[in-house]
Amino acid sequence: MKSQTRWSPFAAAFVFASTLVFAPYIAPPLHAQDKPAEAAPAPAADTFVIRGARVFDGERLLTDADVWVESGRIKAVGPHLRTAANVREIDAHGDTLLPGLIDAHTHTWADALKQSLLFGVTTELDMFSDPKFDAGVRTREAAGQNHDAADLRSAGTLVTVEKGHGTEYGIKIPVLASPADAQSFVDARLAEGSDYIKIIYDNGGAYGLTFPTLTKEELAAVVAAAHKRHKLAVVHIGSQAGARDAIEAGADALVHIFEDEPPAPDFPKLAKDHHAFVVATLTVNESVTGKASGVSLVTDARLSPYIDAASATNLKKSFPRGPASKVDFSNALAAVAALHKAGVPVLAGTDAPNPGTAHGVSIHRELQLLVQAGLTPAEALSAATSVPARAFGLIDRGRIAPGLRADLLLVKGDPTQDIAATRDIVTIWKTGFAYDRAPARAAVEKEKQDAAAARAAAPPTGSEQGLISNFDDGTLNTKFGSGFSVSTDSFAGGKSTADLKVIEGGPNGAKNALQISGTISDAFAYAWAGAMFSPGATPFAPANLSTKKSLHFWARGDGRACRVMLFTQSAGYMPAQKAFAAGPDWKEVVIPFSELGGTDGHDINGILFSAGSITGPFNFAIANVSLQ
Ligand SMILES: [Zn+2]
Repeated sequence: MKSQTRWSPFAAAFVFASTLVFAPYIAPPLHAQDKPAEAAPAPAADTFVIRGARVFDGERLLTDADVWVESGRIKAVGPHLRTAANVREIDAHGDTLLPGLIDAHTHTWADALKQSLLFGVTTELDMFSDPKFDAGVRTREAAGQNHDAADLRSAGTLVTVEKGHGTEYGIKIPVLASPADAQSFVDARLAEGSDYIKIIYDNGGAYGLTFPTLTKEELAAVVAAAHKRHKLAVVHIGSQAGARDAIEAGADALVHIFEDEPPAPDFPKLAKDHHAFVVATLTVNESVTGKASGVSLVTDARLSPYIDAASATNLKKSFPRGPASKVDFSNALAAVAALHKAGVPVLAGTDAPNPGTAHGVSIHRELQLLVQAGLTPAEALSAATSVPARAFGLIDRGRIAPGLRADLLLVKGDPTQDIAATRDIVTIWKTGFAYDRAPARAAVEKEKQDAAAARAAAPPTGSEQGLISNFDDGTLNTKFGSGFSVSTDSFAGGKSTADLKVIEGGPNGAKNALQISGTISDAFAYAWAGAMFSPGATPFAPANLSTKKSLHFWARGDGRACRVMLFTQSAGYMPAQKAFAAGPDWKEVVIPFSELGGTDGHDINGILFSAGSITGPFNFAIANVSLQ
């Protein structure tokens, strides 16, 4: 997939992390067309019996129980099961069998569901994604073709207001205008396929920011509208005050715990009396405080052979912490402990793929943090199996019991004693099909070898002086690499256009400059259009520019914000981006690599000078472009 993509469709997956001032808790979904669903033929169902494992059935530990699987379902559970002669035997003495894990807070696109299954997550509960993507997964699940990926239940488009959280990603989403619209808004989401309704109720105060959010009246109206259709209403909150309002408005769940202040003594009882449940998302609570929650996963030898470079990069990130932020991770741990003690169901959720997380692998960190908060390891395992299944009405999964789906995870050791044992995966079964982890491991190994080769590669010929182009020769040719060319969202289904023209006159008496003009169209959610410089010998081939530290150029334009997007192989072609101003006068722009996803420059595929995401015509020029 990656190697044949020129101007990769993943380019569309712009925007989170590096340049957003705030992005607490959600990341942008992608359009379904960015990663077409491939219909794999359904293999024949296997029949087998797993003998002698410790079995954690989702609620309690059974010692020395056998589990018999037939046609994708659990047929029987018990000691010394007598099976037919043709039933394959799997000896699992010393190992522990768990229900497949459920991550109760994710944002899902592209290959997220495959990544999840690779680490034992067999169901993801999405809290904001593209309804078109979700529909594709549903079709695959219904056709029995989803053995090689986690299942998905999804909120689809979330409920927020104009300029509220959820609208900052440059993706056009419908927003709620008044309480009177609540029912039609909710009904439109259900028509798109939403399994439950996710509401944003967060004014940014916990992070020292200010942005609009639903009024209390709107919140209550949306909750009531969801309940009228017998759907769960779950709420993203950022503060304890917000959590209180949500629960008092009748919300079924909070999908984050707050950490702006310690839990008030009466808060757990409030949640308990209202029968609310809480998806803790401690992983991202930790990341929001500025600590890279996932970094310990990258160095865990039980997991690292399966973590690809893009995931590793994201796991090592955290949210930038603003100066007025009030968040304190100890508050989140205390709130989870108090809720759990009061008998409020606590669910494991990662909020992948926000900074500090990755799909699948982060559930193992979340389990560890739940134990840190005071759950026993067995209770933490329930928080990722039977508890979310019950809370979300998933009656066919979450436990190991006759009749349920054979979504199973076999691990070495005993995670009911040491929660980190969930990382030592022996076998993952999805509806009775053993998932082959070897290809993913081989791909990660090859990626590591390729990265080592790229680091050892000589810099591109002609790059020594650092000048890319001053456009003096009147062409799009460059001193090294394969020149400038037009790049737009058109190959990803967009309709944006760009035109490149060398014009006379540049800054400080320079002879020429490159004019970049065109139109940003709203046909594609991640619209872009501009000039792509490819530093490699062929377009988009990686080049080792690790001797350089920053991008320098001059810019002038119509006053609208423009963007530099840097594509590297190790970030999985997900561009890091940085806005720059292009006003009436020429101004020098210097962007250190550290502000472009922190790349060391060893595998740069392309540097894109694009218009901003606002639709309409644009016109800007760049001159004297260099790497230094
Ligand atoms: Zn989220």
